Amino acid sequence: MQNDQVFPELALLRESFQQGITRELTWRRLQLLALDRFLVEREKDIADAVRDDFRKSAAETFLTETGYLRDEIRFALKHLKSWTKPCRVSVPLLYQPAKGSYSLEPYGVVLIIGAWNYPLQLSLAPLVSALAAGNCAVIKPSEHAPHTSSIIAEGLGHYLDGSAVWVIEGGVEKAKALLEQQFDYIFYTGSHAIGREVMSAAARYLTPLTMELGGKCPCIVDEKTDIRVASRRIVWAKFLNAGQTCLAPDYVLVHEKREDELLRFMQEAITAFYGDDPRMSGDYPRIVNEFHLKRLETLLADSSPLSGGETEAGERYVAPTILRGVAPTSALMQSEIFGPLLPVIAYKELGEALDIIRNGKEPLAIYLFSSDREVQERVMHHSRSGGVCINDLLFQAALHTLPFGGIGSSGFGAYHGKAGFETFSFQRSVLHRALYPDPALRYPPYNSRKFGFLKQLLTLFSL
Ligand code: NAD
Repeated sequence: MQNDQVFPELALLRESFQQGITRELTWRRLQLLALDRFLVEREKDIADAVRDDFRKSAAETFLTETGYLRDEIRFALKHLKSWTKPCRVSVPLLYQPAKGSYSLEPYGVVLIIGAWNYPLQLSLAPLVSALAAGNCAVIKPSEHAPHTSSIIAEGLGHYLDGSAVWVIEGGVEKAKALLEQQFDYIFYTGSHAIGREVMSAAARYLTPLTMELGGKCPCIVDEKTDIRVASRRIVWAKFLNAGQTCLAPDYVLVHEKREDELLRFMQEAITAFYGDDPRMSGDYPRIVNEFHLKRLETLLADSSPLSGGETEAGERYVAPTILRGVAPTSALMQSEIFGPLLPVIAYKELGEALDIIRNGKEPLAIYLFSSDREVQERVMHHSRSGGVCINDLLFQAALHTLPFGGIGSSGFGAYHGKAGFETFSFQRSVLHRALYPDPALRYPPYNSRKFGFLKQLLTLFSL
């Protein structure tokens, strides 16, 4: 049952959608431009908020939050007109004279539930798609990045149409209360456990949804590759945001002949990027809260790091850590690490590495460093994941031309660029028939002659 008494703002959003305000292309463009203005004019406030949540550098915030979002907006603005054009389809002779088409139409009022690790991007990138598709949106940023959540709420209120976009801050109770309401679409980013709760709440109203979840993303380093480049890229991708990235390489599977080199170069890369004491580096972020710090300390307690391993509770600091000789059965390999701990496991034959990946759940991404075509094909054919990146990491999610999403336990549905526009739209089919001719053939009574003729017509002219 809808309960707009609890959230009167929702009634306002429904009313705006009913009036068709958000369907207008001009309105969509103006909202996207206003969102862009928010990112430009408030860039410093946003960087400060993200720094207060994670101690992240302004450069990293630009790369992974504001800069990314501005590109996503530019891409949507550039393609909006073509995305919204109805698609004409052919009409078989049997149904002529007629015209057929379908168009991508907005769902209505959508709910976006964001996660804390990229607190701006994970709430606002879905919003870009939702607005481009002509929806009204309710955004619930994560309570675990409170400074960013508050600038989203305060900032968007000033820039966007308040009758169509509403930001609601809060934690679990707020999220649960929201899910009591009926939405036309739900876009959720976060963990499996909560994802299941969101899905059961959505089931009550049969609300369609997207699940952007996590998982353990493996990175295979084959014998045939440039280990120095692979090391630098892996270290960059793993320790960005202190490992709190859904797409970060969770663990590395390296050919045994290249293991020593990889470990040496990765340690050198850590020092080159963050200095001898990463704690002092302005580019090395902190763990989001005490709960996650303790979780990582527990994982570290049962292991012997090759390098790193230091933690500092008051600072919420966990050093960039490399762990060698980790058993596939160890605690580190049972669930997503989501922090700066990088287990490295050596393999003799690619099949062993593929078995380790297949024995786990489907990851959001698989990374592979190899210049060997056969190895690339084997990995592609014998694994499943939301995405793949060969010879680099993370960038498959940076391209607005590639859909981004998971498979199996890493989620379902996709967004970014056109995929996001399609996610927040449904396909509405329209067949426009002529009134005449109106032959009696289609109507009862169906005698055997008529039936035989109908069968022939359907076989010959329906494709
Ligand atoms: P989180 O704790 O921030 O939770 C996500 C959102 O769910 C928050 O807004 C939170 O308030 C809300 N929530 C909490 N309890 C709820 C409930 N009972 N009902 C409805 N909503 C509720 O984030 P998290 O869950 O710790 O997320 C981390 C996970 O998200 C990791 O597994 C990570 O890999 C994954 N992740 C995936 C992506 C992706 O794009 N696929 C991106 C980022 C993170």
